[in-house]
Formats: sequence, C-alpha cells, structure tokens
Amino acid sequence: MALINDHFLKLTKNYLFADIAKKVNAFKVTHPKADVISLGIGDVTRPLVPAVLEAMHKAVDEMGTVEGFHGYGPEEGYDFLREAIVKNDFLARGVKLDKSEIFVNDGAKSDTGNIQELVRWDNSVGVTDPIYPVYIDSNIMIGRAGVNVDGKWSNITYMHCNEANGFIPSIPDYKVDIIYLCYPNNPTGMVINRAELKKWVDYAIKNDVLIFYDAAYEAYIQDDDIPHSIYEIRGAKKVAIEFHSYSKTAGFTGIRCGYTVVPKELTVAGLDGNRYELNPLWDRRQCTKFNGTSYISQRAAEATYSPEGKRQVKEVIDYYMTNAKLMREALVEMGYTVYGGQNAPYLWVKTPNNETSWEFFEHLLYGAHVVCTPGVGFGPAGEGYIRLTSFGDREKCIEALERIKKWK
Ligand SMILES: *Cc1c(COP(=O)(O)O)cnc(C)c1O
Repeated sequence: MALINDHFLKLTKNYLFADIAKKVNAFKVTHPKADVISLGIGDVTRPLVPAVLEAMHKAVDEMGTVEGFHGYGPEEGYDFLREAIVKNDFLARGVKLDKSEIFVNDGAKSDTGNIQELVRWDNSVGVTDPIYPVYIDSNIMIGRAGVNVDGKWSNITYMHCNEANGFIPSIPDYKVDIIYLCYPNNPTGMVINRAELKKWVDYAIKNDVLIFYDAAYEAYIQDDDIPHSIYEIRGAKKVAIEFHSYSKTAGFTGIRCGYTVVPKELTVAGLDGNRYELNPLWDRRQCTKFNGTSYISQRAAEATYSPEGKRQVKEVIDYYMTNAKLMREALVEMGYTVYGGQNAPYLWVKTPNNETSWEFFEHLLYGAHVVCTPGVGFGPAGEGYIRLTSFGDREKCIEALERIKKWK
C-alpha cells in the first residue's frame, strides 16, 4: 500500500492570485465597459532583447546539424556559461568564485525549493514576513514546518519587516538553523545595505547558521553602495548559498535559466561531529535528479553578458525602473506612503486611513479600475499594504496613475 506524504496535506491552497482573479471578474461582470489596468502583474512583459534572440536562433540552427547537435549537457551547466557568470556577475564586483561553485538551473524557484534537501528535516527555519511563499511551502512539504497554530508554523521563525525596522528584520535573539533572505525584496521592493547584510553574515558565522540568499532582483539595483551578492561581504562564502535568475534580469520567465552558487568553503555540521562541504553534495543531488538546462537557454543566458547583450538588458531594466519612478513620484505626490521602487521593480504602498489590504484593493478596483496585490497575501506583516509592480506597459502605467489621482 502506498502511503501519502501527509506533509502535502498540510499545505494551504495558494488562494492569493485566485482570489484576486475572482474579485476582478466579479467587477468586470458588473462593469462590462470598464477597462481594468493591472499594476499587480508579477511577470515581466517586455520581449527578449535582440542579442538573446540572435544567440537562440544560432543555437537552434546548431542543433539541426550533426556537428552542432547537443544532447545531454553537463548537469551543472556548460563551461561557457559558468565562466561568463564567474567573470561578469562576481569577479567584476571583486568576488572570486570558481566555476565549479556555479550550478546552472532552470530558474531560481526550483532550487530555492530543492536546496533544503541538503539539510536535515529537523532544522529550524527563519523567514521574513512578508515573504515569497516558496520558501515556506517547500519546507512544509518536507515536514520541517511543524504544526500550524493560528496561521503560523511552529518550527518557523517569522521575522517581521515593517516601517520601524526599514523592512530589514532584526536578527533573532535565539538560534535559528537556516535563514532565508531575499534582497532586493519581493514583495517590499526594499534593499539591504552592506552594513546590515554584514550583521547577518556575522550572526551566521557566530551561530553556525546557513543562509539561503535570493538575489533574483539584483539587476534592478541602482545605488552603487547596495551589494548585489551576499559574497561581497567577507566570510559569506562560509555560510551562504545564493540564487540568481535570468527571469527578471533578462525576461527569461518563459525561457527558464538561473543558477545557484554553492561555495566550496561552505560546510555544515553532521551529527557525527564532522563538518561536510555542501558543494559536492549539491553536485551529487543535481546529477541524480536534474539533467541540465537546455543548451539553447544557456546560450541565451550567455548572450546577456556580451557588450550588446548587457546594454540591451539594461535598457529593459531602465524601462521598468522608469515606470517604478513615475509610479513612486505620482503616489508620493498624492500623499501615499511608498516604500521600494528605487532598487527593485516593486512598490510597497501603505493603505490610507488604516484600511486593510483587501479593503484598499477593492476601493482601488472600483474607484480607479486598477488592480494591485494585497500585501497580506505575502504574510501577516503585509497587512495594511499593497504591492504594485512596474512590469507593465508605460502608457498603461501612466493612465493608471492618472486614474488613481482623479479618483482620489
Ligand atoms: C521571480 C522570482 C524568482 C525567480 O524565479 P524563476 O524560477 O527563476 O523564474 C526567485 N525569487 C523570487 C523572490 C522571485 O520573485
């Protein structure tokens, strides 16, 4: 008899985007003529840049020849991409990594979930609140979350991010085994500076904590003094695994490519008292469960590092960041309290008059025909906020702001 992994039964349905769709549909039925603009969109919308397209076409043509055909590739990724990553994403920022520390994947979501196979199920976990839901759900699936009491998991520490702490959580005053950090942050759009990030690294070194650092939005950083990688902090290679993705950087949400960094210096304790390197274990895990990212996707990712590729990718990011700037300025002028949007494509807006996230969502929908994402959908600390994204079309963005202004 096959028995189910009953940890899966503990998962709550991911209601957030379904609930939003339901409410928007209800509005559309009663207002058939209204033109609804979404500022809640969580996917990029600009097309792939020419340098990437060219590289993909070339790779496809190669695949159609006997000499250029590529079957199974190395599970860890092709050297051409791993070398380009080491050189452009790290060496250029003064971080020395070896290509054997880079594991190319099919996007950061898979590995932020998969990585926790490397550590025992009974480690405790710390997450920020609000949060990208994958971090908690993947831990529930493996049985690490404990029991749910009043919407919170007993073995998970929720680290509040709020106005008072500048959306950088305070370091727990007790020992947590594993900590997830994501900067620039989804959903708050806030970043962490070197001094604050150093505190986390120091805490991790001192207390033997493993940090999972999600850098999916690093390409949106505009300020020179904000770190793009946790490895810019001395000692971080001993304690942190980092996740990158071409999804938001270069519009690869439909292409699928990212990478995970597992430094050789990183070790974790075993019950036998010895310390073990995670790099060879992750390699072993990938070789067993993953057969590599497609050659075409990897050539596409490589093209983002050519001089034209870099310039073109930057143009797209500038487009989204100009949207973010316009949104931020207009909302601030209207009197809203706005966080984020300066080094990230997300704006975290405080609801006026102490409205709940969902109340303001409905008011915005019915008053301005604009859709946002209620902050509470990302965790209890998101209550009283909404998330706006700058991934939309410029004209639509401007029109949405005009409508909000008129409605207000
Ligand atoms: C979008 C996103 C990712 C990237 O996911 P992919 O699987 O690479 O598309 C990772 N982390 C966060 C927080 C995200 O918002």
